[in-house]
Amino acid sequence: MFEIVDLNAGYEFRNKFVHAVRNVSLKVEKGEFHGIAGESGCGKSTLVLAALKLLRKPGKIISGKVIIDSTDILSLSEFELRKQRWKKFSLVTQSSMNSLNPVLKIKDQMADALIKNHGYSKQDSYNLVREKLQLVGIPIERMESYPHQLSGGMRQRVVIAMALLLSPNVIIMDEPTTALDVVVQRSILQQIEELRKTEKFSTIFITHDISLLFELANRISIMYAGELVETGAAKSVYSKPFHPYTKGLVEALPSISKDLESYKGIPGRPIDLSLQIKGCPFRERCPYAFDRCEIEKPGLRLLEDGENGRWVSCHLY
Ligand code: SF4
Ligand code: MG
Repeated sequence: MFEIVDLNAGYEFRNKFVHAVRNVSLKVEKGEFHGIAGESGCGKSTLVLAALKLLRKPGKIISGKVIIDSTDILSLSEFELRKQRWKKFSLVTQSSMNSLNPVLKIKDQMADALIKNHGYSKQDSYNLVREKLQLVGIPIERMESYPHQLSGGMRQRVVIAMALLLSPNVIIMDEPTTALDVVVQRSILQQIEELRKTEKFSTIFITHDISLLFELANRISIMYAGELVETGAAKSVYSKPFHPYTKGLVEALPSISKDLESYKGIPGRPIDLSLQIKGCPFRERCPYAFDRCEIEKPGLRLLEDGENGRWVSCHLY
């Protein structure tokens, strides 16, 4: 249903190229909640922007395909793409709460793309806006409000309603609740989960908070230094992480029963993505590194087949 094939992208500066997304391949099935986690700067946002052809200069897509319903959307013109956006896929970005236009009423910003790109009349688009606002639990009289008259949580719900307008099959969410307090965050996440089941869309959900994914996602992918290092069923990755980086993330998760001393962080810093990487990109932080990790770069390999299909990129396996 949604497939990223060998995507490479990054940022071009005068004399260097920051290779932020490296050979990423990913398949998301119909109705799946696929989480992507990794620390800040690992390329998560670049991955989604590149995958939807939204990466702006100095960002650049080097190679790869992104297949949605048998069409490679990276090969489409901007005009063709605009017709597909919202209908086949939509994006809820990291700072989406601030992306609302402050001088437009909610109903008008929501209706705008429907009228301009999808041939809707004003009345039909308002009807649809009303329907989707109700779906995310916003009282319909709020469509007459301006963004500043809504709370942060409500603004985020508006943005989610917008992404749902044309009932796309895939909704990509890049840290959609990061800017909200935990209580609001929780209620929005629950709502996304309910909507996903009733509206039957697939989600690619990006976050640096891996604990959210263990709870919500069907499958998860762990990203490190621009690459996917492990992909598998969320529950089995949680109970049995293979990649040393995933192990580190799981060990660092807070728990009510663990005492504070037993928490371990992952020492060191991520690698500079503008440099040529030799060997395993995680080797300087990896407690299991051995000779081979210095010279040979590991690639993703299938370790467990079937429903729990697990791909891991590490010489230990
Ligand atoms: Fe650690 Fe080596 Fe595996 Fe990289 S390949 S994660 S350095 S053991
Ligand atoms: Mg990001």
